[in-house]
Amino acid sequence: MPMQSEADFGTEADGTRSNDYCTYCYQNGAFTEPEITLDAMAEKGGAIFAQMYDIPLEKAREFCKEQLSSLKRWSGREVPSCGSCGMPLAQDEDAGTEADGSRSAHYCIYCYRDGAFTEPGLTKDGAVEKYAPMMAAHLEMPLERAREMVGYYLSTLPRWQE
Ligand SMILES: [Zn+2]
Repeated sequence: MPMQSEADFGTEADGTRSNDYCTYCYQNGAFTEPEITLDAMAEKGGAIFAQMYDIPLEKAREFCKEQLSSLKRWSGREVPSCGSCGMPLAQDEDAGTEADGSRSAHYCIYCYRDGAFTEPGLTKDGAVEKYAPMMAAHLEMPLERAREMVGYYLSTLPRWQE
């Protein structure tokens, strides 16, 4: 989950804040459910998503699993995600390019090329209109709910911070 306020962060054994995990997953330096598997986690998360956004349960589970598998706990490494659309930058080819041709550590190839956004004039609302129909089709959910979900998700990404 996105960690926005102080209370969202998990805690280390010495009481300091965890920078990697939220309070539901991680307290006092340990996972709250150390034995939970990726499938069980996707099952739990999927049920919540299905209810919140009117997504068929099976689709919600798949989606959750997809999202979870790029996270540090499940992939065993830090996978950066695009600061504009949220796509995980799992492979080199997924990353956008800087003006000098090197790979961007912050944005994906669809959003960022040759050191600039591919759609520099895109607003957050514009991005919601662009991604929500894809999300609605992919997850078989009502467009209105997809707009809410995408809008919330985008508001956690660096490009769309006020
Ligand atoms: Zn992107």
